[in-house]
This record gives sequence, structure tokens and C-alpha cells, in this order.
Amino acid sequence: MTAPILPETATAEPIVRIFDLHKDFGSVSVLKGVDLTVSRGEVLCVLGRSGSGKSTMLRCINHLEKPTRGAVVVNGEVVGYREKGGKLHELRPREVARQRADTGMVFQSFNLFPHLTVLENIIEAPRRVRRRPEAECVADAMQALADVGLREKAEVYPQTLSGGQQQRVAIARALVMNPQVLLFDEPTSALDPELVGEVLEVMKRLAAKGMTMIVVTHEIGFARNVADRVVFMSEGRIVEQGPPAEVIDNPAHEATRLFLKNLM
Ligand code: ADP
Ligand code: MG
Repeated sequence: MTAPILPETATAEPIVRIFDLHKDFGSVSVLKGVDLTVSRGEVLCVLGRSGSGKSTMLRCINHLEKPTRGAVVVNGEVVGYREKGGKLHELRPREVARQRADTGMVFQSFNLFPHLTVLENIIEAPRRVRRRPEAECVADAMQALADVGLREKAEVYPQTLSGGQQQRVAIARALVMNPQVLLFDEPTSALDPELVGEVLEVMKRLAAKGMTMIVVTHEIGFARNVADRVVFMSEGRIVEQGPPAEVIDNPAHEATRLFLKNLM
């Protein structure tokens, strides 16, 4: 008997598990039963048309949205809840904040605080959520800034930076919390074309270092070269997934074909 051939990630420890995730806004059903497992060290790219539910799924993973049905488990904890005596109890805001620190989020629009310097932006969450001493936070922040190639920008204000640099600061801000997984929601969509490359380069380096990442993106080249797996969403469901070469170059689903055709 020959040994089964498994993809590299098949036996790895899952970091994110999504079970039968549904999300309604009023009478509108946006997520209609998403199941997904992401392993430690895996880079997952999420593709899909605008409105297909990609952002809502990411927002459910770090509890910016509360699922209507189903659950998300990150690093063994049910997001937003605590298990006690076999029952789930809703977490208080402070506990949600602590839990959320496991899932760093990078948004399309950077979301840096304009009245804080780069360094102050980065140490804000470790100070407030983790209540760590300032000197420690500063040391970690400088390391995170070095990781995104912006050590010399610690003392400036975000608006003096290019969009690409601001997004790299946002990545450093997420990194400093030492997250289990980084969530990226179209991190390069708001950037001028000439600034996209530097952000993708930083993300590629993080991937190479073994960071677990879920990346919603329209950057097909990045998905092809960096993702371990690509999922394609359509109308609130994952309709197709697999290795990038399969999903991107040989899509099985009509919606995937149409999406890729319009993108190329
Ligand atoms: P994507 O990121 O794939 O473009 P979204 O998850 O942002 O899709 O949105 C999916 C659908 O959910 C859209 O039709 C959007 O209008 C709707 N939606 C998202 N957030 C809200 C909200 N807070 N209230 C009402 N509708 C929402
Ligand atoms: Mg979106």
C-alpha cells in the first residue's frame, strides 16, 4: 500500500475554523453558509465580485460583525463567546478586544489615527489592550517598523507618508500585537498603481516567514505567486477553492470564469 499524498497544509494545525457561517443584514442574507479552515502558516487568498460577502466574512472572523448563525473559532476559542459548562456566553467588550488582538486586520483605507505619530499609532493597542509597559511596546513597535522597512518614520504623522507607506504602517500596527492570523481586506485597492508593489512585497515577506494570512484581493499575480490556496466567493458562498494554479488558470465554476475574464 502506498502512503496517501496530502497537500502540505492538510495535517497542519487549524488556526481559523468557520462553521456554517450565516450573516443577515435585516432581510438581506449576505453570508449563506460558509465553511472554511485555515491552517497555521497558510496563505489564503479570497477572490470574488464586489458584494459577494468577502469583507463580511473577514469582519465575522474578528467579531466586527456578529454571525447570524454558525461560528468562527480562532486558535481554539469561539470568537465572541466563552464556553462554560457546555454553554456559550457572550464576551464583554474588553474580552472581545483581547480576543480580537489574535486576528490583526489591515483595511483598504489604512485607518491610522491622524493625530498620532506612526510610533504612537503602533503602540496604542499593545498599551490599551495588553496593558504592557511603554518601553516594551516601543521596542516591539520599532521591530515591527523595521519589518515593513519604515524604521526611520517612527516620529512622523501619517499624512506626511505616501499611501503605500501608510499601509505598511498599518501592517506594522497589526504585527505588533503578535497575531495568530493577519486579515487583509483589499489592502492595495486604494493605492496608486505605483505604490501597490511595495505593500505586496511586505506581505510576501510575511508569508515567507510563516505568517498565517487571509487576503481578500484582486491582485491575481499575488494570489498566483504567494497563496497556498485560493477560494472564490459568489453570493455569500464559497463556490470553488483549490491551489491557485487550479482556481485561477482552470476555474471550474462559471462565476469564477466570468470574474477572472473581467479582471484580465
Ligand atoms: P464584498 O467585500 O465582497 O464586496 P461585503 O461583505 O462588503 O462584500 O458586502 C456584501 C453585501 O452585504 C453587500 O450587498 C453589502 O451592501 C451588504 N452589507 C455589508 N455590510 C452591511 C451592513 N452593515 N448593513 C447592510 N448591508 C451590508
Ligand atoms: Mg469588501
